[in-house]
Amino acid sequence: MVHQQTGTAALYIVATPIGNLGDISQRAIEVLKSADLIAAEDTRHSSRLTQHFGIATRLVSYHDFSSSAREDAILSELSAGRSVALISDAGTPLISDPGYSLVARARSLNVPVIPIPGACALTAALCAAGLPTDRFVFEGFPPHKQGARRQLYESLAGEQRTLIFYESPHRIADSILDMHEVFGAQRQAVICRELTKTWETIHGDSLAALSQWILADDNNRRGEFVVLIHGAPAPDEQELQLEADRQLHILLEELPVKQAAALVAKITGLKKNGLYKRALELAGER
Ligand code: SAM
Repeated sequence: MVHQQTGTAALYIVATPIGNLGDISQRAIEVLKSADLIAAEDTRHSSRLTQHFGIATRLVSYHDFSSSAREDAILSELSAGRSVALISDAGTPLISDPGYSLVARARSLNVPVIPIPGACALTAALCAAGLPTDRFVFEGFPPHKQGARRQLYESLAGEQRTLIFYESPHRIADSILDMHEVFGAQRQAVICRELTKTWETIHGDSLAALSQWILADDNNRRGEFVVLIHGAPAPDEQELQLEADRQLHILLEELPVKQAAALVAKITGLKKNGLYKRALELAGER
């Protein structure tokens, strides 16, 4: 296939669905149909997708453990003027998926690299989680071993941007329990499970509550996960929160939750809604 703008062959980075097949774009189907070759992470897995959309293009396997000879072969197809579409098992290639080395080498050879954007679990989760989206950090999969995982979380404990992790069903519970310990019981977080699929679940709460939720039902630990953690408060905001907690503790001894929250909002200038929620939590701890 010929790249529409430059008239040269290209490496197309094609996003495929993360569950719901309806999420593939018209352009993705056109590119996959007209490419000379599709490089896929798992050809058997991807052949189900290509069959579904009537795509007859030859599939070759390309993954992180591919030999450099396989990568060289793909690059020589590109250098010979043929077009290659790169896909992964799901979502956007290169996002916790293979392709970085191929793209870097293609660009260094002046082969045009053209993105065909579409589904990606991290952006799907972020846009629906209700956490700040203006600045965020994507950390991919946390380490499997607990020591390394906690160390990573500790290094991120003061990060003010929204944190985003991918997690597997085997480790989701341990990971949430570690987050609870390191980021603190009150930190807000959102667990996004099985996005775009039948059992899609987007569940937000404090890490204390999420630790209980994840253990409460086997179904809560099934499927694919994105976990988002609210960023840490700015240091002076953190001090103000501590001061608000102190005032709430005192007032809750004498007043109902609503009144205590309203008074602390007046004194500190913090939002009434947030203080009301916090006062409910503190009242529940008594
Ligand atoms: N490249 C993919 C993307 O664009 O999101 C991610 C590939 S990575 C190997 C697979 C991980 O992405 C899963 O373990 C899970 O953490 C996340 N993921 C993929 N699909 C998902 C879905 N439908 N719902 C929630 N998380 C998903």
